[in-house]
Amino acid sequence: MARFRDKTEFEEEFALALASRHPVVCIRTSEENRAIDSIQAVADKLDYQELFWSCTRGVFHDREGTLLSERSNKANPAVKGLKAADVTMAIEAFAKKVNDDVGKKKWLLVLLDPDPYIEDKYNNPIHRRRIRDFALQARLEPIDGCIVIVSLRGELPRDLEKEVMILDFPLPSRAEIRSWLDELIKKIGASKWMTVQDGAEDTSEDHEELREAIIDAAVGLTMFEVRYALSQALMRDRILDLEDVREIHLLKQQIIAKCGTLEYLDVTNWRIKDIGGLDVMKEWLRKRRMTFSQASRDFGIPVPKGVLLTGVPGCGKSLAAKCVAASWGMPLIKLDMGRVYGSLVGSSEEHIRHAIAVSEAAAPCVLWIDEIEKGIPRARGSIGDNGVSLRVLATLLTWMQEKDSPVFVFATANDIELLPPEALRRGRFDEIFFVDLPTEAERRKIFEIHLGRAKQDPAQFDLDRLAQLSGPDTYGDEIALSGAEIEAAVANGLIEAFNILLKGNGEPTLTQDQLETAILQTIPIAATRRDDVHSLRGWARGRAVFATEQPHVESEGVRDIIDQLIQS
Ligand code: ATP
Repeated sequence: MARFRDKTEFEEEFALALASRHPVVCIRTSEENRAIDSIQAVADKLDYQELFWSCTRGVFHDREGTLLSERSNKANPAVKGLKAADVTMAIEAFAKKVNDDVGKKKWLLVLLDPDPYIEDKYNNPIHRRRIRDFALQARLEPIDGCIVIVSLRGELPRDLEKEVMILDFPLPSRAEIRSWLDELIKKIGASKWMTVQDGAEDTSEDHEELREAIIDAAVGLTMFEVRYALSQALMRDRILDLEDVREIHLLKQQIIAKCGTLEYLDVTNWRIKDIGGLDVMKEWLRKRRMTFSQASRDFGIPVPKGVLLTGVPGCGKSLAAKCVAASWGMPLIKLDMGRVYGSLVGSSEEHIRHAIAVSEAAAPCVLWIDEIEKGIPRARGSIGDNGVSLRVLATLLTWMQEKDSPVFVFATANDIELLPPEALRRGRFDEIFFVDLPTEAERRKIFEIHLGRAKQDPAQFDLDRLAQLSGPDTYGDEIALSGAEIEAAVANGLIEAFNILLKGNGEPTLTQDQLETAILQTIPIAATRRDDVHSLRGWARGRAVFATEQPHVESEGVRDIIDQLIQS
């Protein structure tokens, strides 16, 4: 399976497939028209003639739909009597054409959405076998003909997989959107219609800035969606301005949300300083910020792949994804693995490919894969869902291994032991971090952050006492409130304070006593699931880097990591 940065790269690879006489190619795309444009561009360049087939129209000569059977049944007796839906007959006719025209013409047969006819589950082996026959024959004796399957799902049955080269057609690149946008601007007559600020005289830098902002907003959409978004923007007031950029972002959020597994998150309000503690991880991430630049490529640094975060729930894994994307100034796209498996629309594999395509088109960006382990069968060795979850994970891991696009993967896992060992191998993630319950110093910081967020003055509180009270002194045995529980304790304290205030006998702010009571009323999840927390920490020692420096566990972890490094 090959993935491409842009249409040009795709066309080069497709041309190579034709030149090396690959008999069957499958192009996976949700943009049939754009893919056909590319197929035709390559066919023209290499002097191929095209035929098309779809179940509704049978075989036809060109995309405008001149039916071959209508136009030239006489000239081509091989296609006489073609039934519209019969893909096998279309291939028969095509194979004959290719044979008849040896040395004279080269042919492509573009099958549009043939999936229902060749999928295993429809149990019609004849169509599949016909494609295989064609491929096997072509291997014995290379021919000037290629069957091109254009399909949204592109899930080939096992017996075809080996014979077919799969190419994923890329979403429009920035350059493609830029050139289309420039044409549009020319057409609408327009630099005067592009304004950054209403009423102000725009400079060419303003135009460039706006153009870049529109492109940023449009990446990740199909060309049809880009056109739709921009024509809507233009129709409103015949002006392209920053308001339209916001509208395109909104439209993109809606479009991405429609697939049910991806979410385009607004992170503009988050800052790295919203994370209390996790200093080791924050420093690691701070250094990676620079590694997306061309200068770092020139220096020999590879594009960063991403991190895997595991640990105690509620301790800031998701928060870190939001804050990192925000502080890097990158869009955050969230992929919910739970929904990938549970979705009623499309297949799990299709969703994962779509997520990869969207994030590559939106790069540089952060792809947050929430609960990456969701869906993986609990029992080792069991293939539960017919292996779908493992195949989805394999697609993801292969992409991570090979990717050179600046998509930073931020994967979070609660039950990391479900992940197969290959997921944790070097080359997939740049680092695996373990996020533990906050230390006393971190709890102090987290109280400060959440009191500030709740419009309280942290300086009015004895933060040291709050930090102490919310940790092992109260719950024993290295157990403490998580960040989420600290946030909830502050919220509960506030509700109590507000109620007392409403009764007319309280302070207009939260008091230390009220907050301490709220803390003591909180039973940390870690206290009820002590064994789980200990076993998580046990797993992490030697396998992950602790996101916070914790002398009691860190020393052992680091020693193991160094040992592993020496051995590898
Ligand atoms: P889960 O595995 O259950 O999804 P998580 O580790 O992803 O948990 P978050 O969702 O990031 O935890 O935490 C929930 C909320 O708790 C955050 O939005 C934040 O408000 C607060 N919180 C957690 N950890 C921290 C922290 N280290 N600093 C500040 N706030 C925190």
